[in-house]
This record gives sequence, C-alpha cells and structure tokens, in this order.
Amino acid sequence: MKPAHSLLLISVFRAICAIPAPGQALPAERDASDVRFVSSFVAAGEPVPSECREEAHTFALSLVRYPRPESWHWVLVCDEAGWRRFLRLSGRSEGAAIYASTDLGGRTTYIRGAKLLYPYDLHADPDEIVAHELAHIRLQSESESRVSDLVREWQGRAKLALR
Ligand SMILES: [Zn+2]
Repeated sequence: MKPAHSLLLISVFRAICAIPAPGQALPAERDASDVRFVSSFVAAGEPVPSECREEAHTFALSLVRYPRPESWHWVLVCDEAGWRRFLRLSGRSEGAAIYASTDLGGRTTYIRGAKLLYPYDLHADPDEIVAHELAHIRLQSESESRVSDLVREWQGRAKLALR
C-alpha cells in the first residue's frame, strides 16, 4: 500500500472513530476531502454503529484504488431508511435502484452504505459503485457511457498492477 493510500485510510478511520454526531462534517488530515456518516438509528454523541464502520472500511479500500479528487464531500448513508429519505428529499422515487449519487456542482457524493456490505449483489459490487462515482467526478460528466468506459479502463489497469 502506498503511503498516500494509508494516510487516506487513516484519516477515514479517524473520522469514523471521532464522529461527534450523525450528519456532522469531519475534516480529514492532509486531504481536503471529508467523509460524513448519516445513520437513522444513532443519536448525537453515540458511537457509530458497526455496520457504518464496516461500510466505511469497504468504501475507503475502494476509494484508494482509483484516481480521486483532492477536495470532495463524501456522505455515507449507512442504512436503508436514510437512503430512502435521501432519495425522497432529492426528488426521486424511494424505490429507485440507485446505489450512489454525485452532485458535481456541489462537489458531493452520496453513497448507499448498505450496498457496500454485500459484495455479491448481482447488480453492482461495492468497488464498482465507488469507481463509478469517482469516474463521474474525474470526467466532470453525467455521461454514463463515458463513465463506464473509464471504469473499465481503471479496472483493467488495476488487474495489470496485481500481476
Ligand atoms: Zn452514473
């Protein structure tokens, strides 16, 4: 693991451990990005639920595998109730098969945390979900076809690197 990678991982983990309250921003060190956790079941000041930590771990592992922005807001919506609420508030159907959503103008990406817990989901694996949003950010584009091309390119490179 490259040093920059472990630093980011550490800052994500530090953010998890130091969470003051659900929904509050947590600045990460040496990286202008921040990760926030939104959980429907935790009151202010209570520890982050284990599912949230697990999701954040998976998220961080994927995040460091791909080119990522220096300054970005990540919002991990830890549970399905929270995600349905997010969809509703953003004007979409609660039942929509949406696993993540990037607001390029607002420099913010929302991740459906529950989908990061099940690596064998037929529709999208966790790594793919994170890579997909990173490609939107890299390209600054809403184009799904351009995003898919870039993700394939990245994943091809990642496989080569593992040899
Ligand atoms: Zn997309």
